[in-house]
Amino acid sequence: MRIMDVLLPRTLDEALEMKAAAPAAMPIAGGTDVMVELNFDRRRPATILDVSRLPELRTWRKEDGAFFLGAGVTYARIVNDLTMFPALMQASRTVGSPQIRNRGTVGGNLGTASPAGDALPVLAAYDAEVVLARAGGVTRALPWHQFMVGPKKTVIAPDELILGARWKIARGPGSFSKVGTRNAMVIAVASLCLLFDEGGRTVRVALGSVGPTILRAPDAEQFLARVLHDAGAWDNPRVPVPPAAIEEFAGRVAQAGRPIDDVRGTAAYRRHACTVLAQRALTWALSDRKLKETR
Ligand SMILES: Cc1cc2nc3c(=O)[nH]c(=O)nc-3n(C[C@H](O)[C@H](O)[C@H](O)COP(=O)(O)OP(=O)(O)OC[C@H]3O[C@@H](n4cnc5c(N)ncnc54)[C@H](O)[C@@H]3O)c2cc1C
Repeated sequence: MRIMDVLLPRTLDEALEMKAAAPAAMPIAGGTDVMVELNFDRRRPATILDVSRLPELRTWRKEDGAFFLGAGVTYARIVNDLTMFPALMQASRTVGSPQIRNRGTVGGNLGTASPAGDALPVLAAYDAEVVLARAGGVTRALPWHQFMVGPKKTVIAPDELILGARWKIARGPGSFSKVGTRNAMVIAVASLCLLFDEGGRTVRVALGSVGPTILRAPDAEQFLARVLHDAGAWDNPRVPVPPAAIEEFAGRVAQAGRPIDDVRGTAAYRRHACTVLAQRALTWALSDRKLKETR
């Protein structure tokens, strides 16, 4: 068997220098995707670059109305510490098992770019950008949809590393939910993140596992924003949204999916799942808005 080199940088600068010198080196963070690839012999890189010890990737911070989440922050830390982002917390809570959540990172979810990655619909609904860096202090930030361009396909350059994701903090309720064959340790058959941005008077909906990459539902988003506007519900959360409008919204969300039949479910089932997820998520959000108003 061929021997594999493992590079162990201690700082981000060191890691970026190593990546510049060995662009084919495969980064490994929590290893919960990489080790599966290695164990099944699907990938056999000559060099692995361990980014799990880099303090610069394991942090988060507020940045002038925005939030930066380092690529190396684990799901367990998000669940414990980032309660200000309920949708991200809910998505993180559904990832794998405690062991996977202790190791797995959002940077790894981005690096894999599976349409079923649970953090990804949340980042899409946040309108996040992905921050990349290369040696020499060169960074660039790409909107999520320009970074993830196909199933397990990103535009990261061989000499770049993911630093993290950054998004503008929006005020309003939101949630993440997914449908799978059971309640835990399950890959999504369909997933959905819905967010209200009360300041911008917009609603954002992102779908996972129902297309080649994460999808937004712009037609449904605009429809709902208009319904809320016409009903006066942006100003007064107690104004009821007609059930027919909720149903119409959910139907439009499902239409945004581009699902296929595969081992996990049929396209028809996935569309139905999107309808149910959208209806539920909207009902929760409307009820959260009312509760906040009456508190
Ligand atoms: C049993 C099991 C259950 C799982 N359940 C779920 C689930 O419910 N939901 C879900 O979304 N996922 C699940 N996964 C998949 C996996 O846990 C996630 O995708 C996780 O986010 C990967 O993070 P990681 O840090 O372990 O990534 P790694 O495996 O270390 O890396 C993943 C990819 O990202 C690249 N990468 C990592 N960090 C960087 C960086 N800083 N810069 C550039 N590239 C980088 C790697 O090279 C690799 O291509 C599961 C995996 C297992 C084994």
